[in-house]
Amino acid sequence: MTKLLHINTPLIQSLSLGQKLNANVWLKMDAMQPSGSFKTRGIGFICQQYAKQGAKGFVSSSGGNAGLAVAYCGRQLNIPVTVYVPKTTKQRAIDLIQAEGATVIVKGCNWAEAHTSAIQTCSDHIRYIHPFDAPEIWQGHATIIDEVFDAGQVPDAVVLSVGGGGLLCGVVEGLKRNNAANTPILAVETNGADSLTQACQAGEQVDINNITSIATSLGATQVATQAFKYTQQYPITPHTVTDLEAIIGCKTLLDEHRILTEPACGASIAATLNCDNPFWQDKR
Ligand SMILES: *Cc1c(COP(=O)(O)O)cnc(C)c1O
Repeated sequence: MTKLLHINTPLIQSLSLGQKLNANVWLKMDAMQPSGSFKTRGIGFICQQYAKQGAKGFVSSSGGNAGLAVAYCGRQLNIPVTVYVPKTTKQRAIDLIQAEGATVIVKGCNWAEAHTSAIQTCSDHIRYIHPFDAPEIWQGHATIIDEVFDAGQVPDAVVLSVGGGGLLCGVVEGLKRNNAANTPILAVETNGADSLTQACQAGEQVDINNITSIATSLGATQVATQAFKYTQQYPITPHTVTDLEAIIGCKTLLDEHRILTEPACGASIAATLNCDNPFWQDKR
């Protein structure tokens, strides 16, 4: 049996958020994953697939949670990891990745440049692990929904944050494989990292060029094509909040549940607190 690289995280009811929204609100506590985010799910799954195919190394191009997840999974699978990060990456992020035993190479002025350097080093045995855009990653992320159904909860709606849309694609996969493909999804971004919202408004994929939000984990200039396609096939409502609202979301979670998350997560809490959003009208 393959060893799971992610854990089954707690699913806890938030009475306080529920009272504010007048609904039953459940929180899936994926900040508690070993590498600190849900990314261990999908990245763990794809790394294991590649390991079975004989991979001898993994390469990532993320100084954030994706790079950390690849470093963690590589260490668990005994496969060396190299992470290319742009010059803008904070020393703290580099330290965390190095602590997992991965090699960090600082290259390029932005993610796209680090990404280009990273893929050039790859081959049949040295596999590039994309932060969000691969079907195996979505299959792995889908376990977050499997666990919700296994816990006996059938959601009337799902609120999630969107960066490159890997989590969104994974949640759609998860809802599909639990016969709940028509569950409405509120897909939350911050202003300045709103690549999905802008694509939906334009009716086609767009590249937003510049990330100005503090929610750096949501900072993909373009979402995965599949994420955009899903917005045209399933009941997915894009929604944006301000950076300040995302911070207030973090503070709410801290006050109510004594858990501190990054703004990328606070954004979804903020969207849940926004009772006036027409999205909630027919759902409680
Ligand atoms: C990566 C990440 C996101 C966004 O996920 P995507 O798959 O890029 O859409 C949201 N929140 C946190 C904490 C993350 O690490």
